[in-house]
Amino acid sequence: MRVSTSSAVEREPSPTTAAEPTNVLIVGVGGQGVITVSKVLAQLCLQNKLKVKQSEIHGMAKRGGAVFSHVRFGREVYSPTIPLGQADILLALEWAEGLRWLPYLNPETGTFISDTQQIIPPFSCRNRKRGATSNYVFRSVEQVKQHVPNSYAVDATGMAEGLGNPRAANTVLLGMLSTALDFSVDDWQAIIAQSVPPKTVEVNRQAFLLGREWIQSDAHKEEREQVEVAKPPPAPVVDDVVIDLEITEAWCKGCDICVKMCPERCLALNSSEIVELANPDACTACRLCEWLCPDFAIAVHVHKKETAIA
Ligand code: SF4
Ligand code: SF4
Repeated sequence: MRVSTSSAVEREPSPTTAAEPTNVLIVGVGGQGVITVSKVLAQLCLQNKLKVKQSEIHGMAKRGGAVFSHVRFGREVYSPTIPLGQADILLALEWAEGLRWLPYLNPETGTFISDTQQIIPPFSCRNRKRGATSNYVFRSVEQVKQHVPNSYAVDATGMAEGLGNPRAANTVLLGMLSTALDFSVDDWQAIIAQSVPPKTVEVNRQAFLLGREWIQSDAHKEEREQVEVAKPPPAPVVDDVVIDLEITEAWCKGCDICVKMCPERCLALNSSEIVELANPDACTACRLCEWLCPDFAIAVHVHKKETAIA
């Protein structure tokens, strides 16, 4: 089972008749909807009377950690996890997570479909100097194709934005995934409609069809070949910016996590046990506090400094 590189999609063997299960690995980071995507697929398999096993890891995924879900389905499935090198399809909601899981994909027959969006964790910057560049892994689309010829990098988030709702990006990807699997469009659409908020059913319907068309239609051939992945941007040069740490006091419960984890030790709890920026000059805008606060009480804003006109 695979997506062909031409406009005609090969659809054999069918998941209902294949002796071996079909293996789909779905990966991304916390909050992106990996589990929802995998549940849509699992539900679809059940509705088509297939055996399906789904396993997932998301324990450490809060606010940006890695999340993955194995979905295996067919006439019979014994193990819930996909062995190394045996995924038929790797669907990545984030570019670096897609790269991380490439060894699980069958390099000859596997299909790689990934959103080009990059969610850069603060931990990827190991240099504490202001303006340091991050070590977020970077590989171009071409480099990935050398490993897996049947690869699709797509700006699914941008496509969903074009439809008026960037949150429909996962449905764009599901539309692409659907071209590689033997389920009817009506079945996909019905399950997706049950899985999204009622007022977004129509935009998700369009997003699904857009994803399918983007992979199948010759009209998008050039676009498919031209997708590039942006090099991760360097951290802002602090001399040029103003860092504004917005603390929502009502949400801070004084748990101390941000204080302990701030690499520059510039946070402290005040006498009311609310966090405050005790040493603003030391803050490098690394965002660790924002990412780690369980109560969303900190937001780090970086503004370009206005140049004063004499
Ligand atoms: S991590 Fe959040 S809740 Fe805990 S002290 Fe910091 S701002 Fe307050
Ligand atoms: S206050 Fe927050 S953004 Fe500033 S250095 Fe500490 S963890 Fe990083």
